[in-house]
Amino acid sequence: MPPRKPSSRRLEDAPAAAGASAAAKASRALAAAKPVRRARAPKPLEPALVDALFSRFQQAEPEPKGELEHVNPYTLLVAVVLSAQATDAGVNKATRPLFALVDTPQKMIDLGEDRLREAIKTIGLFRMKAKNVVALSRRLVDEFGGEVPRERAVLETLPGVGRKTANVVLNMAFGEPTIAVDTHLFRVSNRIPLAPGKTPLAVELGLEKIIPRRFMLHAHHWLILHGRYVCKARKPECWRCLVADLCRFEPKSTPGKPVRGADGA
Ligand code: SF4
Repeated sequence: MPPRKPSSRRLEDAPAAAGASAAAKASRALAAAKPVRRARAPKPLEPALVDALFSRFQQAEPEPKGELEHVNPYTLLVAVVLSAQATDAGVNKATRPLFALVDTPQKMIDLGEDRLREAIKTIGLFRMKAKNVVALSRRLVDEFGGEVPRERAVLETLPGVGRKTANVVLNMAFGEPTIAVDTHLFRVSNRIPLAPGKTPLAVELGLEKIIPRRFMLHAHHWLILHGRYVCKARKPECWRCLVADLCRFEPKSTPGKPVRGADGA
């Protein structure tokens, strides 16, 4: 008897059958696997905890100060404009000799853009900043009698001045209870969380709603300094944080074990 040839039907079905079995296996494995759970974002602190948090900051540092050196509202405005994407220490180094000679908008106009550029050339984006500082000085002289206006909407019309700069000036020069959201404050507010938000404006408006009135004047300095020196972007120093027991950020870091995955957000 001649050997039996496999039928063409059998040959065609073989790969399909193998595929079906692999698919069935995969689907059984999927069904057995535990569902992947995404960590839920922690809830923002309740009012009593917000109160406790700012009470601690206040106790530790009753009169927090910004670190940009200035001699009057005008030089504060200039220093804040120069500080965009630069460190306060770097700005102070350049402005210390500058403000000893130039402390009014008229004197800045007299100095001129070229010499200002030379004076601040160690600061990032100095060309654009020199242009803005001279232009805003001209506006102050021409439209505001050489004074710094006390309204946010007006401040924001000056060259190089955005909402954050306006808020810093209103707070530090005029004692207004504003919240200037910089990168440090944005990170701290989202980590703890106090007023989580995707934009600086959302965080600012959220914080205005939850911070008790009596802490408002100093709140932004406490949070900025906390972010700059303790709750750092890549390595928050939770082990020496005075609000660690109130903060809901996890995992907390320990001295020998920086938090993995902490970023600059
Ligand atoms: S415990 Fe850690 S994450 Fe929370 S505020 Fe303090 S330093 Fe930041």
